This record gives sequence, C-alpha cells and structure tokens, in this order.
Amino acid sequence: MTEFVTIRNLEGSEADLCRAAEILRAGGLVVFPTETVYGLGGDARNESSAKKIYAAKGRPSDNPLIIHVAKPEDAEPYAVTCDLYYRLAKAFLPGPLTMILPKKDPIPLATTGGLDSVAVRCPSHPVAHRLLELCGFPVAAPSANRSGSPSPTCAAHAKADLDGRVDMILDGGDCEIGLESTIVKIDGDTLTLLRPGAITPDALSLVCKEVNIADSVLGQLKEGERVLSPGMKYRHYAPASPVILLDGAPDAVLRFLQSEQKKKPCAILCYDEELPVLKNERLFPVGARDDLAAQAKILFHALRDADAVGAEIIYAHLPPKEGLGLALYNRMIRAAAHTVRTIE
Ligand code: AMP
Ligand code: MG
Repeated sequence: MTEFVTIRNLEGSEADLCRAAEILRAGGLVVFPTETVYGLGGDARNESSAKKIYAAKGRPSDNPLIIHVAKPEDAEPYAVTCDLYYRLAKAFLPGPLTMILPKKDPIPLATTGGLDSVAVRCPSHPVAHRLLELCGFPVAAPSANRSGSPSPTCAAHAKADLDGRVDMILDGGDCEIGLESTIVKIDGDTLTLLRPGAITPDALSLVCKEVNIADSVLGQLKEGERVLSPGMKYRHYAPASPVILLDGAPDAVLRFLQSEQKKKPCAILCYDEELPVLKNERLFPVGARDDLAAQAKILFHALRDADAVGAEIIYAHLPPKEGLGLALYNRMIRAAAHTVRTIE
C-alpha cells in the first residue's frame, strides 16, 4: 500500500515529513519532490534500500544512484570532497547540480552500482531540503519513474509509475525545472559534464576553467563503448510510440507537419506559436520557441501525454545545443533513439 500525502505548506507538514524520514530510516521507500524531477528515495547507507529502489523502478543494478544531502558539508562522511567541490557548491548549491567524487565506506557498492565513486546532490526544493534535514543521513534517489519512461515532473506521474511499489508519495506540486540535474565528474581541477541540466556549461566555466563534455552527452554510444556515466547507455526518457525529431528552418518544418498530420495519426510536440496553424487533436504545446526554460518544465509532461494518445509517430523539434538547449537536446535524442529527420 502506498500512502499519498499532499504537502501544501512546510509548516503544516512537519508531522508528515517526520513520518517520511522514519520510513526512510526503517529501510522503506519515499517519493519526494525536488526542483528538477520527483525522486524515489531510500537510505543511501542501506544495501537493502538500494536494492528495493532498483526493484521498484525495474532499473538495471549497474546504473548508480545519486545521494542527496541537506548541505554540501553533509557529504563529508560519504565522499572525498575537494576545493573544486566547495567552489561549485558555493556557486550553485542548493540547486540542480550533481557532483561525482570518490566514495567513502559508509556508502555500499549496491548504491553506486559497483563504482568506487559517488554522485552527490543538495536539492533546493523546500520539501526535499526539510526531509533531508530530518533524516540526517544521505538519501539515494533516482528519478521516481519506471525505468525507460520519462522522468516524473508531478506527483501524478510518480503515482502512475510507482503506486503499490513504494511506501509513501509526497505531493509537492509541479517541479520548477522539469529536467534532471546537471551531472559533473570532478578530476583535480577539471570537470567533465556527464549529463547536461539547468546549470549550463557556460555557468560551470565561470567557476572552473576546464569543462569537458563527455561524448555520450551529444552522441550515440557505439556497441560495447565504455561510458563514464552508466545511465547514459540506457534508452532513457522513452515513450512507447516512436519519436522523430525534425531539424530544419522553422517554415519548412511547419509545412512538413501540416502535410504529415493529414496523412497519418501523428502526435506533435509543437511550439506555442504553431498551435493555431496546425489545428490537430494530437497537439502538445511545449512552450514558446525561444523560451527554453518553459520547454524544460513541460517536456516530460508533454511526452507522457503524447504517448498516451497512442499515435503512430510522435514528431518533435530538434532543440538547439546552446545553453539550456543542450539539456533538452540530450533528453530528446534519447527519447527519439537518435532518430533525426532533416527537412529541406
Ligand atoms: P537518475 O537517478 O535517474 O537521475 O540518474 C542518475 C544518473 O547519475 C545516471 O545517469 C547515472 O549513471 C549517474 N551517476 C550516478 N552516480 C554516478 C557515478 N558514481 N559515476 C557516474 N555517473 C553516475
Ligand atoms: Mg532517471
């Protein structure tokens, strides 16, 4: 049985959050809101909690979990920190940045998918922050979706995927950012971007001179290729209907969509500006063309909705690779299994 709790304001919810912390301490699973997406939490020190998380998600157990703490210094007993960690923490935490560091013993290999490193994050969402304070131990939390479906950006998505598989779901409303955290690996004075998110490479460059971008962020991995971030090798964010990304001048893409929607039952993730021109029952607006933050917030919701209408194909625009666009691009090429169609 999954208990469903709505958090309207922090002050009135202290008793519920205390209970959630107790469930986690006792080895149970709690879904909680963060500023990026909803997380599926378990005690990061507890091997059996980690195993339960993998089972609830149906996630391969070599795909490591991110550990969440209330404050950057709370990671000390669990990860080998360094100067760059604290510089980045000062600039971006609490917030949507995850840092990979060498792990310390209290974090079992079951939590890190067998790796000797650990991913650390301090979410800024007030509910997540208070829950972590009440726990006083690190909470391992991947996105609260079944493996392969888009990350949940509201409690209803988490419920659709995990009802009956977790002890409690805390509903804290819609996630502000809507895409998972930026992940960087720290090596001395160098950063490698493993997953793009709301903290962009340009923002990271203000704190660290050398920011490399892992090949897996933009490209398709070759069979058997070694990856720095195991999650990148799985077909993530994938709806059941095939997704095709369209690349081309705005007018040409719009003309293509107008003609295509007459030929077959397709769903379209369109820009707000295109709504009046396309006129189709299967349109899912993703925000204005130039409003990347709005697109980030809506994207996973739109993908779930588009998938629910059972269309033969889902068409979407290929996002730009600049700024926040890089995070959208990275998610969309995965949702589309790298299927991009160029429109002349
Ligand atoms: P999710 O939990 O769904 O947000 O995904 C977590 C992501 O963090 C996955 O892509 C993992 O591969 C990545 N990750 C977590 N821990 C590590 C680690 N120690 N080294 C590299 N990547 C990691
Ligand atoms: Mg995930």
